[in-house]
Amino acid sequence: MASIFTKIVNGEIPCHKVAEDDNFLAFLDINPLVKGHTLVIPKKETDYIFDIDDRELGEMMVFAKKVAKAIDKTIPCSRVGIAVLGLEVPHAHIHLVPINGIYDIDFSKPKLKLDQDEFLSIAESITKNI
Ligand code: 5GP
Repeated sequence: MASIFTKIVNGEIPCHKVAEDDNFLAFLDINPLVKGHTLVIPKKETDYIFDIDDRELGEMMVFAKKVAKAIDKTIPCSRVGIAVLGLEVPHAHIHLVPINGIYDIDFSKPKLKLDQDEFLSIAESITKNI
């Protein structure tokens, strides 16, 4: 069965897209830790990130770097933290989280509730900075 992220890639489930190329997609996390929390995924579904072949994994990191720089320009933060968990969705992804301290990237804390307009405006602002 296709992962929820493959359904996003295929347009069967909506997302707030930040960036896309032939092989990768970046979109806002639906339950963000902070404003600007973004996920980067390969379009080709692989569960575990370290099962991705070396070339694609390298390209994914370069794509994530471009997105992280745009997040950094958009959201006031000390830096953009990166994390890989994969405990919930079995489709490899990198979390990009604008952080000012360790608490901002604590995945056990309550998530933000943003409305559609806020998601839209954050995604558009990041996209403009790419
Ligand atoms: P992980 O697999 O890294 O433990 O967590 C998966 C992440 O994907 C979570 O932060 C969760 O909020 C996010 N997520 C799960 N389903 C969706 C979805 O349908 N859309 C979006 N945009 N994010 C999702």
